[in-house]
Amino acid sequence: MHLPPGASDVPSIDLSVVIPLFNEASNIEHLFERLEAVLNRLSLSYEIVCVDDGSRDNTLGLLIGHRYRNPRIKVLSLSRNFGKEIALSAGLDYTVGAAVVPMDADLQDPPELIETLLAKWREGFSVVYAVRRSRQGDDWLKRTTARAFYRVIHRMSDVSIPQDTGDFRLLDRQIVNILKQMPERTRFMKGLFAWVGFKQTAVLYDRPPRLDGRSSWNYWKLWNFALDGIVSFSQIPLKIWSYIGLGISVLALLYALFLVIRTLILGVDVPGYASLMVAVLTLGGMQLITMGILGEYLGRVYEEVKARPLYIVRGAYGFADDDQIEMRVPRRDGPDPDVPGRNCH
Ligand code: UDP
Ligand code: MG
Repeated sequence: MHLPPGASDVPSIDLSVVIPLFNEASNIEHLFERLEAVLNRLSLSYEIVCVDDGSRDNTLGLLIGHRYRNPRIKVLSLSRNFGKEIALSAGLDYTVGAAVVPMDADLQDPPELIETLLAKWREGFSVVYAVRRSRQGDDWLKRTTARAFYRVIHRMSDVSIPQDTGDFRLLDRQIVNILKQMPERTRFMKGLFAWVGFKQTAVLYDRPPRLDGRSSWNYWKLWNFALDGIVSFSQIPLKIWSYIGLGISVLALLYALFLVIRTLILGVDVPGYASLMVAVLTLGGMQLITMGILGEYLGRVYEEVKARPLYIVRGAYGFADDDQIEMRVPRRDGPDPDVPGRNCH
């Protein structure tokens, strides 16, 4: 189990906000403006854990700049782009708040909703997830495919994964501690959040368009994300083939019987090329699909067996014991190390 230095299992502050960022330089200013306005109004102790997921723009530099202004902003910099799910896991590992809210950097998750999430949490819910009532800014194709995906995974998985819900939610410390112990590498966070159980509830919100820049998810990435979700949380694609195979075998047997009887009655019949081709191609195609599906699962098993660390931290700014981490940071290309006296919340 990966235990980052400084992250304790006992909450020492009230609220942690976790934000994965990949090339979000143009959004950071607005993000902090709106987020801090909300958090300062709440009169509770907070931290904002920003995870720079190997951005190629000035995201990391800007984050560290903001940290000088507000030491409650803490910055984790990953050694390369690991993808949103892993960046989020890394951020969660480093939080110390009693309640933890993961959110996007592009202000598609309105910070104002945090107040509502907290109110529900205080009512005794361990997970309060934000459900998108509408998705402005996403085109028809994305809305439709996203909706279809949520319906499919909802039906296929044993775990009830809430529909139209992203990673924007509030998690109790208890839930975060459990997530930190999950060793799996294919991290479909929405599924993991649901798998944990406990008392969960939803609040509705309208999802605004991205503030600036473009979504880093193209349809190929989304397809792979969907596959990750389905394969991690359902064994139906793996098992369904036994039934399809069984069905086809029964049909083939009936057809064979029919052929035998027909030959006995009518004698030898030469034509049959079309039906033969159809049978061969159908079965061949299905066998390839089956093998592909085996590959999907096997590939993921292979990933798990390799047991590589989930992510590599290049620099951590603002966390307790971070000096330890920074010793391993190559300083030549990284930004200047943080100033002393930084371990305040
Ligand atoms: N993100 C990340 N690593 C990636 C891709 C995205 O940390 O490889 C972050 C991104 O900066 C943003 C969040 O994940 O804060 C959601 O990404 P995006 O807005 O591109 O996704 P969408 O809203 O279109 O689903
Ligand atoms: Mg977005």
